[in-house]
Amino acid sequence: MAKQNITPRAEDYAQWYIDVVLQSKLADYAPVKGCMVIRPNGYGLWENIQKTLDEMFKETGHENAYFPLLIPESFLKKEAEHVEGFAPELAVMTHAGGKKLEEPYVLRPTSETIIWSTYKKWIQSYRDLPILINQWANVFRWEMRTRLFLRTTEFLWQEGHTAHATFEEAEEETLKMLGVYRNFAENFMAMPVYVGKKTNKEKFAGAVTTYCIEPMMQDKKALQAGTSHNLGQNFAKAFDVTFQTKEGKLEHVFATSWGVSTRLIGGIVMAHSDDNGLVIPPKLSVIQAVWIPIFNKDNQEKITGKVKELTQTWKNEGIKFKIDDRDNYKPGWKFNEWELQGVPLRIELGPKDLEQNQVVIARRDTNEKVAVSFENVTQTVKNLLVTIQNDLFTKALNFRNDNTFVTDDYKFMLKKSDEDNGFYKIHWCGNRACEDNLQEMGKITIRCIPLNNEQENGKCIVCGEASKERVIAAKSY
Ligand SMILES: [Zn+2]
Repeated sequence: MAKQNITPRAEDYAQWYIDVVLQSKLADYAPVKGCMVIRPNGYGLWENIQKTLDEMFKETGHENAYFPLLIPESFLKKEAEHVEGFAPELAVMTHAGGKKLEEPYVLRPTSETIIWSTYKKWIQSYRDLPILINQWANVFRWEMRTRLFLRTTEFLWQEGHTAHATFEEAEEETLKMLGVYRNFAENFMAMPVYVGKKTNKEKFAGAVTTYCIEPMMQDKKALQAGTSHNLGQNFAKAFDVTFQTKEGKLEHVFATSWGVSTRLIGGIVMAHSDDNGLVIPPKLSVIQAVWIPIFNKDNQEKITGKVKELTQTWKNEGIKFKIDDRDNYKPGWKFNEWELQGVPLRIELGPKDLEQNQVVIARRDTNEKVAVSFENVTQTVKNLLVTIQNDLFTKALNFRNDNTFVTDDYKFMLKKSDEDNGFYKIHWCGNRACEDNLQEMGKITIRCIPLNNEQENGKCIVCGEASKERVIAAKSY
């Protein structure tokens, strides 16, 4: 059987990634460099990500709203750090309706500025707080080096923007949404994450504190998969958003923002997929099981009829399945196609199986095959979907743990990271100069300072000064 035309990971990981994304029909290149077309396979996955997260946001008290794509350029300039951070990536619209605009508009790179200019109108008193809003939208960041899903000039995301009466309440919200992201990454994407705080160098432009989730990809690099920011009063001050407290004082409002994007699809590809194509966790798969009846003209009706009978209750039982009974493709071709697209289970039913009252179920993640009697098919499929979801997480967790090193030896770390990437738990004094040194010497960044970190006296791996805890350092996307 001809295998997929994909560059093996061991040969060229970057090319493998592109091959998988293109051939499994997740996305395609667009006429504008750096943009992408998200194909139905990719968009279906995004819709499942959206549905799941949207429910979680609503369960935690948030509502959806929509703010405009175009932001007056002057808005961006109101928060000094914010404009400095985003200026190099801005796409600016200067003409419309055949005329030069009086004030250029920026295509939103993120919506803090337009949202806080609006919140100014909505907030007067403590009674107007909190505001808990989320937006599903596209954003534009003019990136020089792009890669499908991981870094594109236009991408889809959600951005939460909340307003609070106190710093503590904003901090609680920031951590709550970080928890939602962690839950989603681990329990739906089957992707274990380190959860922590960004350094000042790595934090969001305009934030007091940025928290993040950081999983390891199969090339042992980190992917920043989601961030949650406590913005303090920075944006309220920039847009002069004040409220009257219960005590009658006037104070600036406290803010948070948090987001995940279509980058998560790149994360699913890089965390689980293999040299034969996509591997998608069952909870996010658009199709969880594909039936491939094996028939000829004489027995086609009998065999496909049996498949329909066996799956009669599946819709009600919540199993997402498809029957591929196309007669213009051979079974072997179909096997390859669904393997490439990452459907977790393949179920075969041929004439011999029919005689023996059984089907053959094949797992996408392990290639294991098992014959199952008709009466046990439904329950076995349900069990296997749970097993695959759990196994993918365990496999990714073991992989991460096997490639995370606790070290105090800078030379070892630089050499090992240069050869084979990896995560490093290192002591760091907290100084920017040492952080810059990691970047210069090994393209390594501090991914996060883990939450609830174990306190341990040590010496900075770069300069030898005192440190009280270890941080996670790695090369990243
Ligand atoms: Zn140091």
